[in-house]
Amino acid sequence: MCPSYDYECLNCYYKFIASAPYEERDDSQKCPECELSESKRYYGKMPAFTRVTYVDGTKRKGFTELKRASELESEKSGLPPDERGPIQKEIDSLKKL
Ligand SMILES: [Zn+2]
Repeated sequence: MCPSYDYECLNCYYKFIASAPYEERDDSQKCPECELSESKRYYGKMPAFTRVTYVDGTKRKGFTELKRASELESEKSGLPPDERGPIQKEIDSLKKL
């Protein structure tokens, strides 16, 4: 089964979830509202770990890692840009799980 990702339509700003193979997760998905394929992955205000909970309502495997990654994201935003490298690496590795 393909994992699900959040997208935002660039045409009508509708936010939706679509499943896509991991390698194609950054490709445009067809918007269910206006049916244009002009969407982008949405990383916005929604913390990554809520996605996990609302997709299937359970704390499945990976929940802890995503929650930790989200905490690191807020820590990162408090750092000056040139000190964000290491923490960003940790976030990336957590999100790969
Ligand atoms: Zn749309």
